Amino acid sequence: MSRLVIVSNRVPVPDKGGIAPAGGLAVALKAALEEQGGIWMGWSGRSSGEQEPQPLAQLQQGNITYALTDLTDTDVEEYYHGFANRVLWPICHYRLDLAEYGRKEMAGYFRVNRFFGRRLAPLVKPDDVIWVHDYHLIPLAAELRQMGLKNRIGFFLHIPWPPADVLFTMPVHEEIMRGLSHYDVVGFQTDHDLENFAGCLRREGIGDELGGGRFTAYDRIFKGGTYAIGIETAAFAEFAEKASTNKTVKKARESIEHRSLIMGVDRLDYSKGITQRIDAFERFILANPAQQGRVTYLQITPKSRSEVPEYEAMQRTVAEQAGRVNGALGAVDWVPIRYINRSVGRHILAGLYRLGRVGLVTPLRDGMNLVAKEYVAAQDPDDPGVLVLSRFAGAACELRGALLVNPYDIEGTANAMARALSMPLEERKERWKTMMDHLLEHDVSRWCRDFLNDLTTRDQCG
Ligand code: UDP
Repeated sequence: MSRLVIVSNRVPVPDKGGIAPAGGLAVALKAALEEQGGIWMGWSGRSSGEQEPQPLAQLQQGNITYALTDLTDTDVEEYYHGFANRVLWPICHYRLDLAEYGRKEMAGYFRVNRFFGRRLAPLVKPDDVIWVHDYHLIPLAAELRQMGLKNRIGFFLHIPWPPADVLFTMPVHEEIMRGLSHYDVVGFQTDHDLENFAGCLRREGIGDELGGGRFTAYDRIFKGGTYAIGIETAAFAEFAEKASTNKTVKKARESIEHRSLIMGVDRLDYSKGITQRIDAFERFILANPAQQGRVTYLQITPKSRSEVPEYEAMQRTVAEQAGRVNGALGAVDWVPIRYINRSVGRHILAGLYRLGRVGLVTPLRDGMNLVAKEYVAAQDPDDPGVLVLSRFAGAACELRGALLVNPYDIEGTANAMARALSMPLEERKERWKTMMDHLLEHDVSRWCRDFLNDLTTRDQCG
């Protein structure tokens, strides 16, 4: 069996006891690595200042080698904050108004990908299978090919892929498209993303579809496919059931008293639709005065990317908005919105999901949204809550039992909250079962297997 080489911007390195950080993706990829043996390479998260980074730090755990490199301050600023998070992230989430192009940042992005390639190439054996993850590393295969590597190389994009009109506002879109053509398999979360990608190829005559999921561009043939990422469904369900006895979860249950809990869990990011959601909650309470004092909306929102100005501004906006709604609607014995601006451990989160009568997952655009899947998996089968899900989340293609909403339609989302809270038990159970059956069948291990099968089956990939 070939070894597997995984490359991602950050690497979930196990602690000294060999325990990998929690999270379905880390667990699934680690399991695949354990089975096949191999390497997981990426950025250490550390800066070497302006000094050339030290050689790769390698940590051996069983038959997995974790290989980490530092980056210089300039690299971090240009490649990570600059191009990945201030250009590719907004563009892929259809926010061209927020993209801040700069030639320096673009050059930094390609330079760091070359640097990753140079550090990785000496570790790779001829029959290793390489799997590159996410938007930080699109040009990596091209760099490896230039160094003469002929290995099977696959790429999976965890975030959405935009339509041509959005992508082509980015001055280096052609280099990005060319970068993708150097992979043998390019994987997306949804059919919609794959269609957008095919549209980008066609638009400027860059390439075409050959049928059977095969594409041609820049004199290369590769497979483009849809692989919706899952979670460890069965394990998460068990985890949530056990979490009911967790001290913090018990305290939360007691503090909610007789009220229904509406839950939102999102990294602080403009793609998540948090301000629209708070507006919708306010609208829901104003339209349903009988619900005053009878619901609690818990919004857990860890800070992220505070170095990017939009995120810093958003932190203030959301906190002010939650404060304003609480001031306007609250009573001496009722705080309508509990807004928590830090990260909550997954074991507590699982228990909180299970307490939630309604899970609100209403991003303006999202690659998949694992929170939606975790919320479903965490429910009590005998008394499940209702998922209110944005039609613009990748998960909407799969979770047919959710109440689908358009997050820009504040009134529609408010109505969905009302409908979710009054939904009869039988309907709740039926909707939940459809979703849970799907999630059990399409868990993260299957996602991993499906992608690697396509990557290692030559006639599939051209
Ligand atoms: N998460 C967490 N603690 C928090 C908030 C989120 O562990 O306080 C986890 C959550 O369980 C999920 C992930 O972060 O697994 C978020 O993934 P998702 O796909 O929903 O969004 P992303 O942040 O990747 O855009």
